[in-house]
Amino acid sequence: MLFPAKSRNRSLMVAATVCIASSASSDAIEIEIDYSLDANGFFNQPGSKEAFRAVCDYFESILTDDLARIDQSEWTGETWAARVRNPATDVVESIPGKVIPADTVVIYAGGRPLGGSLGRGGPGGYSVTGTGADAQAWFNLVETRGESGALQVPPRDFASWGGSVAFNTSTTWNFSLTSATGNPSFVSTALHELGHIFGVGTSASWTAYIIGSVFTGPKSAASFGANVPMSGDGAHWRDDAACVLPNGYNPLNPLNVLSKTVGQFGTPAGLDQIARMDPSSCQIPGNHLVFTELDLAGLDDIGWDITSAPPAEIVAPALAISRNPSNGHVTLSWTAENSFAYQLEESPILSGWQDLGSPVSGVSGPASVTDTTPPTGANFYRLEVGPAPAPVTPPSFASAPEMWLGEAVHGSREPAVVENCGGCAAH
Ligand SMILES: [Zn+2]
Ligand SMILES: [Zn+2]
Repeated sequence: MLFPAKSRNRSLMVAATVCIASSASSDAIEIEIDYSLDANGFFNQPGSKEAFRAVCDYFESILTDDLARIDQSEWTGETWAARVRNPATDVVESIPGKVIPADTVVIYAGGRPLGGSLGRGGPGGYSVTGTGADAQAWFNLVETRGESGALQVPPRDFASWGGSVAFNTSTTWNFSLTSATGNPSFVSTALHELGHIFGVGTSASWTAYIIGSVFTGPKSAASFGANVPMSGDGAHWRDDAACVLPNGYNPLNPLNVLSKTVGQFGTPAGLDQIARMDPSSCQIPGNHLVFTELDLAGLDDIGWDITSAPPAEIVAPALAISRNPSNGHVTLSWTAENSFAYQLEESPILSGWQDLGSPVSGVSGPASVTDTTPPTGANFYRLEVGPAPAPVTPPSFASAPEMWLGEAVHGSREPAVVENCGGCAAH
């Protein structure tokens, strides 16, 4: 009796350990950068590798999917080859038997002259063969990295072994990690191209949400407040097609697909910005164009597990104070951002702060609160700032196109690439 009980205890302990291990393994993905195809030496430029590593680090910090290992030596009768679009030549090449470690994505990075485009990026393809009972499992592994939602109909997840990205070798780049200049921002471009590698415009689970000219992914629709208008290629949000100072877009342009920055690479969180997966880059000196809440929602809809966004860098706005000489009322005013909620507080002694007036949220522009009963003598006012409650928008759902899923034991997928990522200069 003692032994079985003991052994049962032991197996319970093992089960508990496995459980812990599996929750711990929902750590960040790892991005392995491979410069072996950079035959044109794009990444010989000072600061280029550091900047690309930093952009990859950003994606590592937000994507937490568990991705299966691809290693044909662990299988019997199964083989594969990664199909990669060579960034130096645009030729698709095979890399037979490549080993892709668990939770790892391999990105071949390089450059070539790209005409008017700043960059080209997309996920890799593959060819796969197999025989016997495990062939379909092998096929599924290479296709999905174990993300079962990718096999659903319609597909609701996506993962690839990796992909490739080419940057324009004819461009004079700004490789700064913190600020944009008049030259095209490498950081902004790399963020955009990695968006394509991770499936924006290049995956079946992205395409499944396109209905007509809008993207109906529920996370994106909730973030934008409606189904999101797309550019004609189905691979980008709609182009605002305006590039004007001071902010790089015309605030009154009805074509804008605006969102809020998530706060990266020197750009504060909560700023209005044309979403980064817009097809063209408006290059103006100042902040880098960075990922916005909408871009992250797009990745979420594709099926990526996104870590809860890092807390927005909240910067309290300047508080202006004025006193009405006729009645003694004191008015506090500031410029509000509609992604934040504000509560004015008062105290005559800089402690024991009391709320003054109601919270202000959903306001973009001037906001104010008036103290109609200020005490005699000195009084202090301050503004508490926090994230605004998320607006509840009913997402619209529609049936997505059916996807055929064959019984084939061999198959292939060619690398995807988005062709028309342009750029424009403000001056
Ligand atoms: Zn996923
Ligand atoms: Zn693009």
